[in-house]
Amino acid sequence: MRVDAIKNGIVLDHIEAGRALEIYHLLSLDKVSCPVAILTNVSSEKMGKKDIIKIDGALSLPLEILGVISPSITIVLVEDGKVREKRHVSLPKEVTDFLRCKNPRCITSTEQGIHHRFHLTGEKNAVYRCVYCDAQWS
Ligand SMILES: [Zn+2]
Repeated sequence: MRVDAIKNGIVLDHIEAGRALEIYHLLSLDKVSCPVAILTNVSSEKMGKKDIIKIDGALSLPLEILGVISPSITIVLVEDGKVREKRHVSLPKEVTDFLRCKNPRCITSTEQGIHHRFHLTGEKNAVYRCVYCDAQWS
């Protein structure tokens, strides 16, 4: 798989195998008009298997939060068919209204209009917990 198959866009490489679809939906890539390719179970020297998402369009996406889902991701920005920048995702200390608490008894589930807020409690394994009910997001 060659990164330069896209001209101007973003490649999300080294996604933990099996999580590409989740990221696709979280970034609302089903609503964009440019070509998006999802590759799953690609062989990787580093990871065994990995997923890749290729977006052929210069979109502005909330990429900084991707580490929450798959901390191994490399973000590759492609311009004129060349790699302009590669960067690793980081783990934000707090995430608002991106993850949703799945606890049915949580105040964010029972009340309307409350922001879903998660904070980082485990740097190593990217563990996020709801600030209201302490439920772990996974
Ligand atoms: Zn909660």
